[in-house]
Amino acid sequence: MKTIGLIGGMSWESSSAYYQIINEEVKKRLGGLHSAKCLLYSVDFAEVERYQARGEWEKSGKLLGDVALSLEKGGAEFIVICTNTMHKVIEYIEEKINIPVLHIAEATATHIKKSNVSTVGLLGTKFTMEQDFYKSRIESNGIKVLVPDLSERDMVHKVIYEELCLGNIQQASRDYYKKVIKRLVDSGAEGIILGCTEIGMLVKQEDSEVPVFDTTVIHAIESVNAALE
Ligand code: GLU
Repeated sequence: MKTIGLIGGMSWESSSAYYQIINEEVKKRLGGLHSAKCLLYSVDFAEVERYQARGEWEKSGKLLGDVALSLEKGGAEFIVICTNTMHKVIEYIEEKINIPVLHIAEATATHIKKSNVSTVGLLGTKFTMEQDFYKSRIESNGIKVLVPDLSERDMVHKVIYEELCLGNIQQASRDYYKKVIKRLVDSGAEGIILGCTEIGMLVKQEDSEVPVFDTTVIHAIESVNAALE
């Protein structure tokens, strides 16, 4: 079994889900007392969020690059960045290390292709929904990506930073997300990417009439595949 290097803390609410899913999956596959070999380096999200808000992507990339290098030196054999948004700075991370990074959008696109869905709605931070670094990875796999309109994107983003990353789950926000999902489905989405690692805490399959693709679950399971292959 390979040792997984997890870059977490963005937020720790979803890093704890990764840790749990990865260990449960290893236990399911190997049985008995088996558990995952992994290292978790959990950053202070306040620092990362400040860089995001100021558009200081290079600074956050260098920070996460140093974190990845620490994980490699500690024995990690590949890296899992436990957030969609911070894949924006994957180049800064890759240039610091000699081990591979398991890309969350590539894992998600591979999963979507297997389910025969060709148009998806994408929910995530504004960075993820509006910029190209994430959507282009999905689209280069032949999948069309729809995003909510501007006012919906603002609200989806606000709920992530002001509620979900603080572990605060509100029914009113769930109802809002359900409305946004419905509108995306009415516009042609055959599936919905929960493209922020905390959204799975709020929205479940039962909240959508089309399949939801929870990037936390997909990425965590794919990391187990990579560790055991
Ligand atoms: N965890 C979130 C994501 O998957 C948002 C927090 C962040 O900006 O990293 O994008």
